[in-house]
Amino acid sequence: MIRIEGLHKQFGNLEVLKGIDLTIEKGKVIVIIGPSGSGKTTLLRCMNALEVPNQGRVQIGDVSVDFSQHPGKKERAALRQKSGMVFQQYNLFPHKTVLENVIEGPIIVKRKNRQDAVKKAEMLLEKVGLLDKKDAYPASLSGGQQQRAGIARALAMEPEVMLFDEPTSALDPELVSGVLNVMKELAEEGMTMAVVTHEMRFAREVADKVIFMDGGVILEQGKPEEVFHHPKNARTKQFLQLIQ
Ligand code: ADP
Repeated sequence: MIRIEGLHKQFGNLEVLKGIDLTIEKGKVIVIIGPSGSGKTTLLRCMNALEVPNQGRVQIGDVSVDFSQHPGKKERAALRQKSGMVFQQYNLFPHKTVLENVIEGPIIVKRKNRQDAVKKAEMLLEKVGLLDKKDAYPASLSGGQQQRAGIARALAMEPEVMLFDEPTSALDPELVSGVLNVMKELAEEGMTMAVVTHEMRFAREVADKVIFMDGGVILEQGKPEEVFHHPKNARTKQFLQLIQ
């Protein structure tokens, strides 16, 4: 479902991704871990062309973009439409209700009629446990509720894959599990997902594969039990000791 080959990204002189190769099969969940500054967010942002890589190829489903060939806006937009992204900060439109936030993309970008968009949005809000908040404004919701609304908003665009960038790290501890449960359900329904998170329990329970990144490269990858209990790389070992 996702194939990344030889991905490089530089910001000025700073080389942040130094040749990333990665495959994620349909319906699988990968969790990306690694120290701060190792390039995890940049990798996710390159996967949906929010950042433009300097080199390499990103394929999601039937869209393949070779960034070495300097793709135009249209190609990048086609890649972006393949994935839904959930950020650390909720990024909802503050002046719109929860429902309006969820239907905005389908109506404006996908040109759906309002009635269909509302129907789908209500279904998604029910799924994330927020149907009773559909007419509320983001500021009146808890961080966890806002994040679940953000997930519903991303799903409304009918992405083939979901990308999560530390979706729970800005939340109070008691709000984390509600968001992780929604993500777990999505995974169980067969959504292909790439998740940057420090939630090791989620990684253990949900991930098919754990990727350890450091210094812009993938240093180690494998099943959660392999990476967590039998890390091969000294840097992985050191990182796991620090966070567990
Ligand atoms: P991580 O998610 O693993 O913490 P990031 O991908 O956010 O790492 O960042 C990797 C490196 O790239 C950091 O040194 C960061 O400061 C730098 N970086 C990220 N985005 C930008 C940007 N837009 N401009 C300049 N440097 C950036």
